[in-house]
Amino acid sequence: MTTPPALEIRGLRLTLPGAARPVLDGVDLTVGPGETVALVGESGSGKSLTSRGALGLLPAGAVTEGAVLVDGEDVLTAPPDRLRALRTGRVAMVFQDPRATLNPLRRIGDFLTEGARAAGVEPAAATDRATGLLRAVGLDASVLAAYPGQVSGGMLQRVVIAAALMGDPVLLLADEPTTALDVITQAEVIALLVRLRESFRTGLLFVTHDLDLAAAVSDRVHVMYAGRIVESGPAEDVFARPLHPYTTALLASTPRLTAPGGRLSAIPGRPPDPRTPLTGCAFAARCPLATDTCRETPPEARRAPGRPDHHAACHHSARLADEGAVLDV
Ligand code: SF4
Repeated sequence: MTTPPALEIRGLRLTLPGAARPVLDGVDLTVGPGETVALVGESGSGKSLTSRGALGLLPAGAVTEGAVLVDGEDVLTAPPDRLRALRTGRVAMVFQDPRATLNPLRRIGDFLTEGARAAGVEPAAATDRATGLLRAVGLDASVLAAYPGQVSGGMLQRVVIAAALMGDPVLLLADEPTTALDVITQAEVIALLVRLRESFRTGLLFVTHDLDLAAAVSDRVHVMYAGRIVESGPAEDVFARPLHPYTTALLASTPRLTAPGGRLSAIPGRPPDPRTPLTGCAFAARCPLATDTCRETPPEARRAPGRPDHHAACHHSARLADEGAVLDV
């Protein structure tokens, strides 16, 4: 029997009450066992909504179409008891701010072991497992007796990662997991996530606005804009030879460690308001390559010739492919 992907999202559409169009519109992505997939885009592009969809955490009143399969099980149709089991076992999430995840009045040991104890594991065995996972994330057992306020932010994020691994998840969702940390701790936490992914064979969906980080840790990348995936492919290829003007603009607006001193250019304008309907390409109002075709007809994702597994939803991606990644915005 073949192992199912850790996460498979097929044609996910999500509509909120009062919205003129879906806030997620036909999202497709797959995270294989032991694979890291980055979801990048500006704030409001739909990347966090997509990752929360994998936990079945959707806004009240949301209407969904499509499928979100975690380890082969559809979270959109799973009954509440199955959803609870999924959230405490096969899928886990690491949020941006570890201090918001932990109760400051409970010892870290209680936080780490509560899920296992609730599932019937003997307290001593739960503590043993928590101690082993703390070691795996570079902490010692003394942390078990501490309260969250007694340890640093970086140590707390390691605790949250250890807690996420307590249920042996097939899928780890990391939503801007290093944003609240200083630069050195960020690098340590990222190195830790990569190491753990390799040791535990956990699929990792990494949500970030930091393109350098995405390039450093991911096997594949999906670029989101206005609720759609506009470009996807092997991370190295997408960042070195982007085929969508939005990806090019994101790269041009990101400070790069690899090109210090280079000119940064902000992306002009703002993403479209979900309360207004769209015709044509959602990026057209901000895109220097936009034509009448772009404004009238939404582009479909197409595979780029000679670029295995690299797709872009742009009428003029061939121009970018021919001219290279340089596009002034
Ligand atoms: Fe720009 Fe047109 Fe491509 Fe949209 S379809 S990204 S407007 S060139």
